[in-house]
Order: sequence, then C-alpha cells, then structure tokens
Amino acid sequence: MQIKDIIALDDKYYMGVFGKRFPICFVDGKGSSLIDSQGKVYTDFLGGIAVNCLGYSDPGLIQTLQDQVAHVMHTSNYFYVETQALAAEKLCKATGFDKVFFSNSGAEALEGAIKLARKYFHNKGQEKYEIITMKNSFHGRTLATLSATGQAHYQEPYHPLVPTFVHVPFNDLQAVKAAVTDKTCAILMEPIQGEGGVIPAQAEFIQGVRQLCNEKGILMIADEVQCGMGRTGCMLASQKYGVKPDIVTLAKALGGGVPIGAFLATEEVAAAFAPGDHGSTFGGNHLATAAANYVLGQLMETDMLKKIAALGAYFKEKLQELVDKFPNIALQARGDGLMLGLQITPQVPVKDIVVALQQKGYIIGTAGGNTLRFVPPYVISKADIDGLIAALEKIFQML
Ligand SMILES: *Cc1c(COP(=O)(O)O)cnc(C)c1O
Repeated sequence: MQIKDIIALDDKYYMGVFGKRFPICFVDGKGSSLIDSQGKVYTDFLGGIAVNCLGYSDPGLIQTLQDQVAHVMHTSNYFYVETQALAAEKLCKATGFDKVFFSNSGAEALEGAIKLARKYFHNKGQEKYEIITMKNSFHGRTLATLSATGQAHYQEPYHPLVPTFVHVPFNDLQAVKAAVTDKTCAILMEPIQGEGGVIPAQAEFIQGVRQLCNEKGILMIADEVQCGMGRTGCMLASQKYGVKPDIVTLAKALGGGVPIGAFLATEEVAAAFAPGDHGSTFGGNHLATAAANYVLGQLMETDMLKKIAALGAYFKEKLQELVDKFPNIALQARGDGLMLGLQITPQVPVKDIVVALQQKGYIIGTAGGNTLRFVPPYVISKADIDGLIAALEKIFQML
C-alpha cells in the first residue's frame, strides 16, 4: 500500500487519539535499522518506545516465535504453561524477586501492583490504601494508573479520578515524608522518569524512600516499565541504586516487541494474593512468555548488559559534548545506560529536531520538558551513535 492510502484509512477509521502521526510506515527492519514503505532506511534510536530491545529480525526471537505459533499461542490460565513457568523462573533469578505475575501491558502491571499493595494491608486488617506517587511521573492510561500519574494534562478530561493517590515533587524526600499518613500503603516511583523527561532519581532520594518505607511499614513500588529489563546496564534500575523495592513493574522491553508486562514481588508481599484475587485472560500466554523467555535468556546469558553500560556511557559523553558545544540549544544530557535524554532550549520545539533527524535517516523520540529521548535497541553500535551525533550537530549548526 502507498503511505497516502494508509493515512486516508487511518484518518477515516482510527480513533483520533494519536492525531497526525509522522507520515512514515515501517515495513521491515534488521538490527538497529528500520525500512519504510518507500524503501528508505533509518537508524532507530526509539526502539518502538524502549520496546524493541533486540532490534529487528533477531534470528533467535523469530525462531522462538515461529516454533511457538506452530503449536499453541494461548490455552488460558486454567492450565499450566511451560514458557510461563520458565520465564517466571528466569525473571525472578535475574531480579532477586520471588514471585511474578504476567500481564499484557505496563498499565496492567501497575494495576496489579496497586491491587497487591492494597490486598497486603487488607489481609493484615489495616485500613491502608493511599499511594504516594511523584509529580511529573507516568504510570499508564487506565483510570487507576492515570490517577497515579503525576501530570495533569493526561488526567484533565477524566475527572473524577480514582481517589487515594497523593502526588509529591520528585526527588523531594521531605515532601514524601510529609505526605505519609496512617492510611499510606505504598510509595510508587519510577527510578528514572521516562515520559516526564528522562529524569533520574537522586540516589539519596530513592534510598531515602526505601528507608522511609522500612521505618513506616509501607511498601515501595518501583515502576520499571521503561527503565528496567537491562535498559541501564543492570537488569533493574533499582539494583543500580542498591535499592530493593517490595514490588516492581516491568513491560516495554520484556517481550522484545511482543506485548507483555509483569509485576514482581517478594515472597512475603506476593503471599497476600489468594486464588481468585487477580487474573488475566491473555496474561502470560504461551506466545508472550516464549518471547520474554528468549529476551531474558539474551540478557542473562550473553554480555549484553555490559555492552549496554559501555555504549550508554559513550553515548552520554557524546551528548554532553553537544551540550558543551551548543550551550544555547542543548541544555542538559541526562539518564543512564541506553535511556538518555537531551533537554533542548524552549525556543526550539523538539519536534522540529525529530523531523529534521528523520530526513537524515534517524528515528528518535521526545519526552516532557522539551527533551529529546533516546531509548534505542540494545544492538545499536558505536557507529550508529557517532552517526546520530554528527546529524544532531549539523542540525544544531543550522538553528
Ligand atoms: C510506558 C509506561 C507505562 C505504561 O505502559 P503501557 O504498556 O503503555 O500500558 C507505565 N509506566 C511507565 C514508567 C512507562 O514508561
């Protein structure tokens, strides 16, 4: 199909929530490259928003999925699922958690985490249901996760929201402490805020939140839907901070492009769920967990995490050089591993830079606070990074 015909169908039949999209339709990919319907090749620094961690056409993932599709994709959770059990074991071993539940998306993983935190205190006979979350956070689009999200523009049309979420400024431990009441059941935070602008937690803050939770008997929930699954060079970003939450959510990169989310908990917290307390028709099915099992194997059994850390450090250095060279345009380089942001002066809309990069054959994303967001596949190369930086430099020179 021609791109103009696809756009016409989309305009006519698809709900308008994505507005005018970029007029590009990808039809193929290999490694860190994407190919559009006109045959143009791009280097991908978006990875389908931190999802396609193994890049495109990974031969092992293709083989795994083809094998699974040829047998059963889905049989329901009335029955045991081998790939689900195997992926659960790998994920627990990789993260140090005891129990996992597989969902279909990030928001659903958060929904499960919120329910688990509430059930934990319900079992203790304690009336604790408030959850403290951070301003500028993003936790998803369902009504509860939208209510947890600390950005008014996502919430504005949907009031009344789910009550019991209390928002405090990110990286402000005093504010968190002041917000704790005898009804607080959990503190929820992204170790690195993604949609909000690639803003890492300060170590003292996240460690302080853990300590506060210990002192007050509150659960700590880390939303690692974006920053987890090796993105920072550690399986979990919280591991990098030396912090172990009580519950962690994952999704985006977990299936290498196949939709799957998860929430993990310690034995003690997970035990709060009894049969019937939670469930999902699709969650953890053969197809999605075969993908997760393969992705986890790649992260755990190869030197991929080390590569992410090394490439990320190199990439960030190069972004910092852009800040030094163009201080009036590039204000700050932020992030960790292959989750990096470059904050741009408010005078230059980031979308203009994104489009200019597309013309030069690079796909990148944006995030809050006029920030360019780089969440590439883990198979990106140093040469890819050099190419992107050179393209950015050319664009900045023209501004
Ligand atoms: C993307 C994201 C979500 C929501 O995930 P969906 O799969 O879109 O529901 C939740 N939390 C964080 C931190 C995210 O980046």
